[in-house]
Amino acid sequence: MSNLNKDAVLEVLGRVQDPDLHKDIVTLGFVTKCEVDGGKVTVVINLTTPACPVKEELKSQAEAEIRTLPGVTDVDIEMTAVVRGQEGTPRVLAKSIQNIIAISSGKGGVGKSTVSVNLACALAQTGAKVGLLDCDIYGPDIPMMMGLNGHPEQTEVDGKPMLTPKMNHGVKTMSVGYLLKEEQPAVWRGPMVHKLIEQFLSDVTWGELDYLLVDMPPGTGDAQLSLAQLVPLTGAVLVTTPQAVATFDVTKAITMFKQVNTEILGLVENMAGQTIEGLVEGAQEGQSVRLCVGGQEETLKIDSEGRFRTVVDLFGRGGGERLAARFDIPMIGQLPIDPSVRVGSDAGMPVVISSPDSPLAQRFKQAAGKLAQRIAVRSFASLPVLD
Ligand code: ADP
Repeated sequence: MSNLNKDAVLEVLGRVQDPDLHKDIVTLGFVTKCEVDGGKVTVVINLTTPACPVKEELKSQAEAEIRTLPGVTDVDIEMTAVVRGQEGTPRVLAKSIQNIIAISSGKGGVGKSTVSVNLACALAQTGAKVGLLDCDIYGPDIPMMMGLNGHPEQTEVDGKPMLTPKMNHGVKTMSVGYLLKEEQPAVWRGPMVHKLIEQFLSDVTWGELDYLLVDMPPGTGDAQLSLAQLVPLTGAVLVTTPQAVATFDVTKAITMFKQVNTEILGLVENMAGQTIEGLVEGAQEGQSVRLCVGGQEETLKIDSEGRFRTVVDLFGRGGGERLAARFDIPMIGQLPIDPSVRVGSDAGMPVVISSPDSPLAQRFKQAAGKLAQRIAVRSFASLPVLD
C-alpha cells in the first residue's frame, strides 16, 4: 500500500529551489494545484513570469522529485505565470499595465530601438502580454522595425477618443511615427513631449499588459523626466556600445535615473564585437581553421555543414562589465554587430522573429529572460494560492 498523497508530493516539491528567490517553490506559493489520483500526480506551478529562464529546469526538477515517490505512474506538470507589477505604487495612468520599463541610451545610434523591438518580441514569444511605446521623437523607427505603418485606428471609449495600438509579432505598438506625416520635421519642446507621453499612456487602448517597453529619445532630456513623473516605472534598461561605455553620456544617463529614483534593471552592450562566419568547401566536421583578425590569431572548429563562426572584439573587451560593476547594474546582454540585425530591422522582421534559433536571437532571448527575472524578483511577495 503506497502512501502517495498530496502532502507527500508537496514535501518532495519543497526540495525544488527557485535560484533567484532562494526559496523552494512550495514556500514561495508557486504550487497552485496539487492532485493525486491513484498513481497520477497533477501539479500546476505558477511562476512570476512566462519568460523565466529556468522554467524548463524547474519543471524537470519537479517531475524528477515527484517520480522518486513510490506508486507514481504518471506526472502531469503545467507551468503557468502571472506577472505582477511593483507593490505599493498606485497608478493614475495606464492602470492595466503591470510593468513600464524605459529603454534608454546616453546617445543615439547605439541600437536602443533595435534592442527595444527584439526584447519586446522575445518577451511576447514566451506568452507574455507586451506593448512597445515609441517615444523617440527624434527617430521614431519602431514602425519600420516592426513592419507597421499608417495612422492608428480611433475608437471611442466612454465618449473619449482613443487610439488603437498596431500589432505585429505579438506586440502591441504605438509610435509618434504613426502620427507624424512622413518627412515632416518635428521640433519638440519640453511641454509638448510631456503631453505626448501622457496621451500615449492615457489615450491608447493598451488593455492588460505584463510589460510595456518604452523606447526613449537618446540622452537625458525632458522625455525621461516626464515619463518618470507621469508613471511609477518598474525600471530602465540602458543600452550602450563598447565605444560609448566610458563616455560622459552614459554616466549622465545613469545619474539621471538615480535622481528620479528609477532603478536600472540592466545594461545591454550592443555592437560588442563583430560576428565573422565562413564556409570551407569540402571541409569535414571537427577540422579547424585559423583566422587572423587585427593581429590576433584564433583557431576555430568547423561544424557539420563546413561552417565556422566567431565574434571578434573590435573595441576591446570588458568595458561593459566594468561599467556594470562600477554602478552595480546587472549586465543582461552583450550583442555583436551582425548585418542580419540591420537587414531584418529595415524589413520589419526583428532577428528574434526572422531567425529565432540563430546565436544572436538566443542572446536577445536570454537578455529578455534576465530582464523579466529581474522584474519578477523585485516585484515578489508571496502568493497565498495553494488550494
Ligand atoms: P538607436 O535607437 O540607438 O538610435 P538603432 O536601433 O536605430 O539605434 O540602430 C542604429 C542602426 O544600427 C540601425 O541601422 C540598426 O539596424 C543597426 N544596428 C543596431 N544594432 C546592431 C547590431 N547588433 N548589429 C548590426 N547592426 C545593428
